[in-house]
Amino acid sequence: MEETDLGIIGGGPAGAMAAIEAARRGLKVDVWERTAIVGRKVCGGFLSPESLPLFEELIPDALRRGSRIARAEFYSPSGRLRSFNLPAPAVGLSRVALDGALWRAASERGARCHAARAIMAVKYLGNRGWELSPAGDGNVRCRAVLAACGRWWKIDGLPSQTAGHRRGAHDWMGAQAHFESLPSSDAVELYFFSGGYCGLAPIEDGLYNACFLVHRSLVRGRQARLEDFREWIGEASRHDALACRLRGAVQVSATVATAPVRPARKSSNFSGALVAGDAAGFLDPFTGDGISIAAHSGRLAAREIARGLARPEFGAGREVARRYRRLLAGSVRRSHWAAWPLRMLVRAPAELQNCVAAALPASASALLVAGTRWRPAGA
Ligand SMILES: Cc1cc2nc3c(=O)[nH]c(=O)nc-3n(C[C@H](O)[C@H](O)[C@H](O)COP(=O)(O)OP(=O)(O)OC[C@H]3O[C@@H](n4cnc5c(N)ncnc54)[C@H](O)[C@@H]3O)c2cc1C
Repeated sequence: MEETDLGIIGGGPAGAMAAIEAARRGLKVDVWERTAIVGRKVCGGFLSPESLPLFEELIPDALRRGSRIARAEFYSPSGRLRSFNLPAPAVGLSRVALDGALWRAASERGARCHAARAIMAVKYLGNRGWELSPAGDGNVRCRAVLAACGRWWKIDGLPSQTAGHRRGAHDWMGAQAHFESLPSSDAVELYFFSGGYCGLAPIEDGLYNACFLVHRSLVRGRQARLEDFREWIGEASRHDALACRLRGAVQVSATVATAPVRPARKSSNFSGALVAGDAAGFLDPFTGDGISIAAHSGRLAAREIARGLARPEFGAGREVARRYRRLLAGSVRRSHWAAWPLRMLVRAPAELQNCVAAALPASASALLVAGTRWRPAGA
C-alpha cells in the first residue's frame, strides 16, 4: 500500500492551501479532487481584501488577470443605493481561474495532486493513521487526514455533516453564470430582495460573474428554467435596478446551480481527522469571505498537523485536533455572529429591507461586513 504523511480530500481553496503549506513544511502530501475541471462551482467570484495577502505570493499571475474591485454597492428592493469603499482593493476572479491556479501552485511545490479522483472511503486505523480509498486506484495509508471537501460529501467512514438533513427554513439555493457586454465598474454590486440577493462582480477577460442565492421557497418548481439566468433571477427578484443593469448583457456560460446552501458552523474534526473550509463551517456567501476563511483554515490545519507529526507521540492526533478546534473557533466565531443580522435582513420582507436601507448609513453596512472577516486567534 502507498504511504503518505498527509492525505487531503478536496482540491478547493482549503485543500489546495493546506497542500501548499504541508509541502512547504516538508511533509509528503497527497490531495484528491473528485472533479476533472478544478473550480467549476457556484461562487460570486469575489476575493476579499483579507484573502489577497495569502494568494499574492502564490498565484500572482492569476490575480493580475482578475478585475480590481474598490467599492461595494448595495441596492435595496426599491433601488436605493448604499455604496462604500472597501478597506483595501479586492479582486474579481472566476473560480476556474482561482482554483486552477492554486491547484497548479500546490503541484509545483511538491504536493501530489490527483484530479478526477474521488475518495470513496476513509478508514481509521487507530495509532497507525488512516487508509483512504481513491476511486480507481489502490488504497493509500496516511499518517494524518484533512477533510476539505466543501459543504457536503459522500464518503464511507466520514459522515457528511449535512447528509440526510431535512429541507428546512434555512435552505437556500445558489446559481451562477458569466456575462459579457455589461458596462464595467470597479464595484461589486449586491441587489437584495425579499428571500435572496444577486451579486455582480467584474472578473477576468472583461466578463462579469453573476451569482444569486435565493430561499428555496421562492423557486419551488422553477428549477427547470434555470438555463436563462437573467429571466430566472428577474422572476424571482422582481428587482427593477437589477433588470436594468442586466439589460443588453449576454450570457456566455451555462448556468451552474447548487442546493442546499445552508450556513452553519460544523465540527472541526472527525476522530482526529481535521476538517477545513466549508466542510468545517459555511458562512453566508453575501459576506464575500468564504474563500478567505477556507484558505486560512486549510493553512492553519496543515500547520498544526505538521507540528503534530514532528512529535513522536502524534498517534491519532487528538491533541492536534483539540488545538486546531480552539484556534479555528477563535478565528471564525465572530464572523458567524456578524453574518446573522445580515442573513435575517436578506429574509425580511421588501418593505423592511427598504426601511433599513433608508435608515442605515453606508458606514454601518461596511462595519457589519468587516465583522464577518477571519481574525486569526492567538496560537
Ligand atoms: C452562491 C454562493 C456564492 C459565493 N460567493 C462567494 C464569493 O463571492 N466570495 C467568497 O469568498 N466566497 C463565496 N462563496 C463561498 C465559497 O464558495 C466557499 O466558501 C469556498 O468555495 C470554500 O472552499 P472549500 O475549499 O472549503 O470548498 P470547495 O471550494 O467546495 O472545495 C471542496 C472540493 O472538494 C471536492 N470533493 C468533495 N468530495 C470529494 C471526494 N469524495 N473526493 C475528492 N474530492 C471531493 C469538491 O469537488 C470540491 O472541489 C460563495 C458560495 C456560494 C454557495
